[in-house]
Amino acid sequence: MAKKVVIVGGGWAGCAAALAVRKAGCEAELFERADMLLGTGLVGGIMRNNGRFAATEEAIAMGGGDLFQIADANARHKNIEFPGHKHASLYDVSTIEPAVRKALLAAGVTVHMQSRVRDIEVKDGAITKVFADVFHGEPVEASGDAFVDVAGTAGPQGNCMKYGNGCAMCIYRCPTFGPRFSIAAKAGVKEILGEKADGTFGAMSGSCKLHKDSLAKDIQDKLNATGVAIIPVPASLQKDLGSLAKKACQQYALKEFAENIILLDTGHAKLMTSYYPLEILRQVPGFENARFEDPYAGGIGNSMRYLGMLPRDNALKVEGLKNVFCGGEKAGLLVGHTEAIITGTLAGNNAARAACGLAPIEIPATLACGDAIAFVRQEMQTKAGLAKKYTFSGSVYFERMQKQELYTTDIAAIGARVEKAGMSGIFARPVC
Ligand SMILES: Cc1cc2nc3c(=O)[nH]c(=O)nc-3n(C[C@H](O)[C@H](O)[C@H](O)COP(=O)(O)OP(=O)(O)OC[C@H]3O[C@@H](n4cnc5c(N)ncnc54)[C@H](O)[C@@H]3O)c2cc1C
Repeated sequence: MAKKVVIVGGGWAGCAAALAVRKAGCEAELFERADMLLGTGLVGGIMRNNGRFAATEEAIAMGGGDLFQIADANARHKNIEFPGHKHASLYDVSTIEPAVRKALLAAGVTVHMQSRVRDIEVKDGAITKVFADVFHGEPVEASGDAFVDVAGTAGPQGNCMKYGNGCAMCIYRCPTFGPRFSIAAKAGVKEILGEKADGTFGAMSGSCKLHKDSLAKDIQDKLNATGVAIIPVPASLQKDLGSLAKKACQQYALKEFAENIILLDTGHAKLMTSYYPLEILRQVPGFENARFEDPYAGGIGNSMRYLGMLPRDNALKVEGLKNVFCGGEKAGLLVGHTEAIITGTLAGNNAARAACGLAPIEIPATLACGDAIAFVRQEMQTKAGLAKKYTFSGSVYFERMQKQELYTTDIAAIGARVEKAGMSGIFARPVC
């Protein structure tokens, strides 16, 4: 009988893990508490900017490209530039979820929607079963040979007020679908808290969605035609640079993002600055009728995440548990859809290997994907490192990527280095 991997969480990392498990030849059963897959990926959209291009092409060359190809196929704009960022593409936040769901079902993944895992069974240091509550249905339980914890890092509803600057993690529809739950934490693994630069806990997202129709017609036209609109902000209304320092995504904390309103077209207008008070935003010409689309409370806060990461090794095995792997934000401070897809793919492949009694693999550090996974783990051992966020698209890790000569847009060169590392097609092959 085929071995089975159970995946808890249907964000980008969970979807990638499920596909990787199927390609590795095992059964995959995925639980998502909400009525849509993709978690925070439902409000994002930026792909392939800066070093993410090279990381994406590495993943494709390693045989883990399915979700990137879906994101490309659902791109509203390709190869665009905005301050500090080159060759970005923007997926359409309204078409991406059904496309990913269809791909999972076509690959034979058993998908349980509106099914919140709330408990586990543990035997001899291994998880053996999960128990889920199903909205409007009977509870479901699933046994597995290995498990992937990709439940994200946001907290329960009390976070709205707890962390000082407003958690609008209702992006997840938290009050409706109940809080996040980590199977590894339930099994006794101590979660790690990320920190902001001022030492307070969590990390706040750097962007919000505005309803495109609520903006002036000329701004809508510019967005639809080019994907980007840069609107100068009158000096008296400009945000101070200090407020940008609060963002998790420091690659967007450039002065251009304070002097201008930078919008990207992902179907909604993605405002590249967090918590712009609505009464100030509406004083900017063209924004008189603006309204936040996601999170609804975007004027006062934004998603508060990184409150529950797991200790793991470079194969993404959770320390202290025999058969549990983690990916996405759960696996540490590597921010982004691209990053979640890559770590989710590795976690899924290694969970399939564990289910089949095989040793896990690491991605070599000669590839940006492997280097980032190892570098972030090492950084998270220090207090200063825990206060930063890492991404292929900017800031600390993109700088490192360039120094290590891992950033290039030469697809043939990327294919060659993946080949040299012995990783070509590795995620596309059955493991047992
Ligand atoms: C506002 C905002 C904008 C962003 N914009 C971008 C962008 O443009 N580009 C980019 O690359 N990155 C962006 N990011 C970051 C990116 O979205 C995340 O880093 C990445 O998508 C995280 O994926 P994940 O799968 O690890 O976690 P999540 O997206 O947090 O997914 C976790 C999933 O697990 C589910 N879950 C939790 N508990 C349970 C349970 N008990 N049972 C079942 N399911 C459960 C949740 O419902 C959720 O669907 C943005 C983030 C935010 C908040």
